[in-house]
Amino acid sequence: MYIILFGPPGAGKGTQANKLVNEFNLHKVSTGDLLREEVKNKTEEGKVIKLKIDKGSLVSDTIISNLIKKVLLNKDINQRIIFDGYPRNLNQAKELDLLLKKNKRLISCVLSLAVDKESLVKRVLGRQICSKCGLIFNKYFKPANKINHECDSKFLETRSDDNELTIKNRFDTYVAKTLPILNYYRDQNLLHEVNGMAKIDDIYMEIRGIIASIET
Ligand code: AMP
Repeated sequence: MYIILFGPPGAGKGTQANKLVNEFNLHKVSTGDLLREEVKNKTEEGKVIKLKIDKGSLVSDTIISNLIKKVLLNKDINQRIIFDGYPRNLNQAKELDLLLKKNKRLISCVLSLAVDKESLVKRVLGRQICSKCGLIFNKYFKPANKINHECDSKFLETRSDDNELTIKNRFDTYVAKTLPILNYYRDQNLLHEVNGMAKIDDIYMEIRGIIASIET
């Protein structure tokens, strides 16, 4: 099963992916997370990636392609994947199709989360991620507390690209490069559009219904 979670920065893709992973025994593949790992390792490539991320532009398709090929070779996870933040342009979408086709596999569905621009900015600026468990919180809408988070609050981090200037560029990049993929998937009858403005649990109920119907 190969699911794509699609939506602008701050739409809640990571939050929903984290919930789906447990219930449907899926593996989350976030190209953003994989790129941030490269940056942490301070390699030459990591430095190039950091410049792109901090500007809010897309990292090159070659770098992304190499990461995805590695993921698809990993037998522990390569049968049940939920992609978060990938593909990001038409070239990546077409390459994913080819890579899956080589192994007689297909994308199962594309879930698109729609959220208005004003809410996205608030969500991104309040976002906090636990570097230990990976859970995602929001200072304003969903603060971490003793009930919803087991780790110490010292592990809560803000992403370097979650600032006002970069979010504007990330949104513009999304509209110019990523949004056109929607038609590509709509034409293949793979697209499910979900209201990403609803409550986290209500969005989840809708999404899990869609996935459950595909599994049967
Ligand atoms: P994300 O964690 O998905 O919000 O991604 C953070 C940043 O990583 C993006 O703003 C891009 O600079 C870069 N990035 C993540 N995924 C991709 C991708 N599939 N293609 C190109 N750049 C990406």
